[in-house]
Amino acid sequence: MRYISTRGKAPVLNFEEVVLTGLARDGGLYLPESWPQFSRDDIRSLAGMSYAEAAAFLLQPFLGDSVAPEDFRAMTKKAYSSFSHDAVVPVSQIGSNEFLMELYHGPTLAFKDVALQLLGLLYDHLLARVGKRVTIVGATSGDTGSAAIEACRGREAVDIFILHPNGRVSEVQRRQMTTVTDANVHNIAVEGDFDDCQAMVKAMFNDHDFRDTLAVSAVNSINWARVMAQIVYYFTVGVSLGAPERPISFSVPSGNFGDVYAGYAASKMGLPIEQLIVATNRNDILSRFFNSGEYRKSGVDPTISPSMDIQVSSNFERFLADLYGRDGDEVAELMEKLDQDGGFSVNMSRLNESIFAAGRCDEEDTSVTIRGTLAHSAKLVDPHTAVGLFVGKKCRKNGKTPLVTLSTAHPAKFPDAVEKATGERPALPKHMADLFEREERLVSLPNDVETVKSFIKDHARILSEA
Ligand SMILES: *Cc1c(COP(=O)(O)O)cnc(C)c1O
Repeated sequence: MRYISTRGKAPVLNFEEVVLTGLARDGGLYLPESWPQFSRDDIRSLAGMSYAEAAAFLLQPFLGDSVAPEDFRAMTKKAYSSFSHDAVVPVSQIGSNEFLMELYHGPTLAFKDVALQLLGLLYDHLLARVGKRVTIVGATSGDTGSAAIEACRGREAVDIFILHPNGRVSEVQRRQMTTVTDANVHNIAVEGDFDDCQAMVKAMFNDHDFRDTLAVSAVNSINWARVMAQIVYYFTVGVSLGAPERPISFSVPSGNFGDVYAGYAASKMGLPIEQLIVATNRNDILSRFFNSGEYRKSGVDPTISPSMDIQVSSNFERFLADLYGRDGDEVAELMEKLDQDGGFSVNMSRLNESIFAAGRCDEEDTSVTIRGTLAHSAKLVDPHTAVGLFVGKKCRKNGKTPLVTLSTAHPAKFPDAVEKATGERPALPKHMADLFEREERLVSLPNDVETVKSFIKDHARILSEA
């Protein structure tokens, strides 16, 4: 499999290069040149497989010669053995033909573990072969940081530096990051907000000298391997509910458009999906786009579903590329308009054939949905999941098709919002019950990119051992 940039001006890469690079040098994102195809018989055959086997089967075509099939099978087995549920991604029923896909049984209780547990192992495997290291630098507003740290802790080939805004992540989220004390893990609390952290990471990627000497790599969802790993659960859950004999609809709480884009990829690969519902909170750039054709930035409003508080969805560019027949010049032009004019419009006729629907859920409806789901389905859900449930109900057009809402986080990750809505405080699962007693390790640094860069240079093993 070869990978091309959405903007068409960066070198064509293989899987190994794409995983280690992250962002394309022309500013675009990498995409597989074509979608692997799975027949109805292929899809039926998933029914007898474990989650790890299904992942190995579905993802092998993306790897080309970069990873041998037997090595990859061992990797998926190891990655998903860290989940606390044997099904890895179990399904529960919450209503008539309505289901929850429970994506939160991984080590840090959010769906990001599904992809990052595998990505950590891929890094080790690909780097060990060539005897190299990478330095991962990322900014987090909460879930990505802890999932990436958990996936990379103790890995020989990786040093990881995660920037978070000091005092602005929840205590559970902070402790999930800072209580990991492996020597290759570095938590940096920045005296600033999340945008400051993200701007610093961007500046480090744009400093090509810094980027090259430290072999800086990205773990956010611009990395193709993240999206790729998320394709699997659409298939396994779809099959458990009757695909390919009947189509399935999914409602996906969305921020950066990575998770729902993986569902789109699954449909391109042969899974019959009737509706793919993009659910946003009041930061609704995606919902506005799918309903009007206009993609326009507005400010970010903090909500009780903070992992979806984004202004611009980084993965949206991948969808745009398909919408424009992979015409890199057109995509580059639209992205430039976004930069300069704050937005652009797409002719709605381009969207008419698509399986997407979209809607938004405000703060009050999020709380009401958390409360209602506990009352009517005896299930405690987190605020992100509630956004998915609310918008799924609103946009669903056919009650005969199973509607699966992706439950993206464990309620105990957002205990205050859940308690406020229901009066019930969700408990942390057993393996984390002592989170508040564990020792924390972090450094506080000023909001100054040069200071942060020198901290990273001083602690990255790639330099000290060169
Ligand atoms: C990251 C995250 C999302 C948004 O996923 P995207 O792939 O960015 O659209 C939704 N819910 C939770 C809990 C998350 O951590």
